[in-house]
Amino acid sequence: MIDLDNPDPPSFYKSAVCERDRWTCQVCGVATPKSANWTNEPNAPEIGHKVPLHEGGLHAYENFQCVCRSCNV
Ligand SMILES: [Zn+2]
Repeated sequence: MIDLDNPDPPSFYKSAVCERDRWTCQVCGVATPKSANWTNEPNAPEIGHKVPLHEGGLHAYENFQCVCRSCNV
């Protein structure tokens, strides 16, 4: 899902968030290896919001989590 008002966080955030979350999808638990970053693999790491923006979540580091591509669509 692409939210035009809240573009993807910069790659710095992506690496930092995925490192913090140990390159594991926080939704389904699948490994999202760093080697799959920026690929179209279903387990490629992506950044998602823990609390959806429409539920008051912030577009901020603390509210980001590492999720696989499959869970982020
Ligand atoms: Zn997942």
